[in-house]
Amino acid sequence: MKTFDELELIEPLKRSLKEQNYTTPTPIQAQTIPAALDEYDVLGCAQTGTGKTAAFALPILNYLGKEARKARPNQPLALVLAPTRELAIQIGESFATYGKHLRLRHVLVYGGVNQAGQVRALNRGAHVLVATPGRLLDLMNQGFVRLDQLEVFVLDEADRMLDMGFLPDLKRIIRELPEQRQSLFFSATMPPKIVDLAQSLLFEPVTVNVTPKTTSVERIEQRVAFLERNSKLPHLEKLLLGDDVERVIVFTRTKRGANVLAEKLSKGKFKAVAIHGNKSQNARQRALDAFKRKQVQVLVATDVAARGIDIDGISHVVNYDMPVEAESYVHRIGRTGRAGADGIAVSFCTPTERDELSAIERLIGQKIPLDPNCQSTDFQWDKSSGGGGGQKSGGRRRFGNSRSRYGSNSARPKRTASNGSTDPRGSGNGKRGPKKSFGQRKRATVKA
Ligand code: AMP
Repeated sequence: MKTFDELELIEPLKRSLKEQNYTTPTPIQAQTIPAALDEYDVLGCAQTGTGKTAAFALPILNYLGKEARKARPNQPLALVLAPTRELAIQIGESFATYGKHLRLRHVLVYGGVNQAGQVRALNRGAHVLVATPGRLLDLMNQGFVRLDQLEVFVLDEADRMLDMGFLPDLKRIIRELPEQRQSLFFSATMPPKIVDLAQSLLFEPVTVNVTPKTTSVERIEQRVAFLERNSKLPHLEKLLLGDDVERVIVFTRTKRGANVLAEKLSKGKFKAVAIHGNKSQNARQRALDAFKRKQVQVLVATDVAARGIDIDGISHVVNYDMPVEAESYVHRIGRTGRAGADGIAVSFCTPTERDELSAIERLIGQKIPLDPNCQSTDFQWDKSSGGGGGQKSGGRRRFGNSRSRYGSNSARPKRTASNGSTDPRGSGNGKRGPKKSFGQRKRATVKA
């Protein structure tokens, strides 16, 4: 694989990449950057954590940085659309980092805050505009943004935008884009609606598929702890006291659940803060900043709020509640193990969450190994008697007490794990099943 030095990037970019200690492009960068530098449209199937921000930011900075052009008021030359404020801010930070040695201005535009500062920044001129769709449209309608000079358009996390109901806004924005432009389109998944959208936007794109699901999942040590509901908090607290624990993101199913858990943890020994859609944008950003600065060790989040969070040094992701959608599991655990770093993802699974676990294991094509730290917990909720598993003589009694959900001998779980714990999924003992192939999605055929 080529190094960044071997790519045709201008010197100021190479310098900032060196300062970031980036030597080798990630797979999405290796495939996207040369195509984008050659001014092709790109259809990238990739999710956060794969290095996709640099995959589009570097070609844009390279293109705009080659010739010193003045930033025009209210008329950006490049537009990056992102679904959430958090992601927009992260993208802005990437432009600032990679573009450190270039005299290019980027402006951020997102909702939930007063528009005055954004309007002033736009009036001063921007080469690159990073925006969420709702606020951008608002400012366009007020005449503060005009897209007629636009040369590069990036749509990031297109699938999430559609999930969040941004399609009508997106269509209105797309109508304003000049015909002659380069478009870079990224989405973690390619359902038919996304393919349609890509077809309407892209001209003979170079299609880039990275396989983030398998690669990112492989880098992460995954574990499942079978617990009763009331054992979740003590188990989490025990985990947080571990030596290897740095920053932790804990996922709950509901916003209320996130608040309650953050409060309980904070009452104990832990600095925790909740982040979810009911919090104001400022409160969410403050929570993220405190987490980044390590003033807070635990971020308790719901799926939507955590989407796109890019914070290094997250040692553990905990699924306090199993995700309802199996796809979310991959997004959740992808918060750790970023850019080659290792991470640990622990999922707490109660008897009522077994179906969710099965769906996840089918999706990732492997059985998640048992959490070795979950030996002290009694879980007796496997309905299958399956040969009685039983205990070795002299072994510690684990299965016979009154906390049994099913209460009879027929409820005895099988004993399968080598650590003496019980895997209510039955036999298999962490053996990997066949790998699901995530690659090779269909190339979008593009209307000329
Ligand atoms: P992204 O998918 O754009 O959110 O990037 C995920 C993380 O990878 C970020 O923390 C980046 O700073 C980091 N990163 C991106 N590209 C590289 C690279 N080529 N080498 C090392 N780290 C990288």
